Amino acid sequence: MRHEVFDGIVVRARSMGDHDILLSVLTAEEGRLPVLSKGGKSLRGEQRTVSQLFTYANFEVYRRGELFILKGGSPIQSFYGIASDMDRLNLASYLCEVCLELSDEGEEAGDMLRLMLNTFYAISRELYPLEIIKGAFEIRSAVLSGYAPDLSCCEVCGVENADSLYLDVMNGALLCSSCLHARTSVSKHTGDYDEIREAEVLAPLTPSTLAAVRYAAGAPIERLFSFGLKDTEELHLFSSCAESYLLSHLGRGFESLNFYHAMRQKKT
Ligand SMILES: [Zn+2]
Repeated sequence: MRHEVFDGIVVRARSMGDHDILLSVLTAEEGRLPVLSKGGKSLRGEQRTVSQLFTYANFEVYRRGELFILKGGSPIQSFYGIASDMDRLNLASYLCEVCLELSDEGEEAGDMLRLMLNTFYAISRELYPLEIIKGAFEIRSAVLSGYAPDLSCCEVCGVENADSLYLDVMNGALLCSSCLHARTSVSKHTGDYDEIREAEVLAPLTPSTLAAVRYAAGAPIERLFSFGLKDTEELHLFSSCAESYLLSHLGRGFESLNFYHAMRQKKT
């Protein structure tokens, strides 16, 4: 058995029997790795901490076939603030599922890891409205995975800015309202993935929400959330556009996302 050491963030922690925890750890060099924390449920101290969801840690492991057995570790950052609020917890859980979907074993994931770390830091302290954190993550994770939308101008007439533009979600392109009216079958985005699955999805964007989507697609990851939107309506437009873009490209929805929305609606 080979002894190895790596830094990574726990994006899934599943019970295995009565005692063990199977972790999925996202690392920069090797992507997502399966790490078995034997007796993880009854451990104390640092090994217990590094066996918990959302923890960024240095892991010491032995390799056994495809699996890594946790031998020790020391937490680097625990993001305790995430668990202090239901919305933060639900959002972070959904983002972990997205990360699992977009990462693979053995595939370099340095940018995705930096995105997760910056996002968890922002969520744990709620440095920005959760809609901004969620939407910016969704846009950026799609871009990192090769699904970058063309946000330069209307794909038909080339206008760059207008009072009302739409993101043609399936094509990853912008459409202005004049060019849209020239089209026939238009279905309005409802925010519900099941309803939009087969339809053409057009997410409406105001000038400032378009600026936000453009920013999230290209800004340095360290400053990904450093932008503002003026009111709740714009926050929701931005968040819902980002969500439908990501989900359409992944071709699936997430239980954790439905749960996040259900709980957040109860509070507002
Ligand atoms: Zn146009």
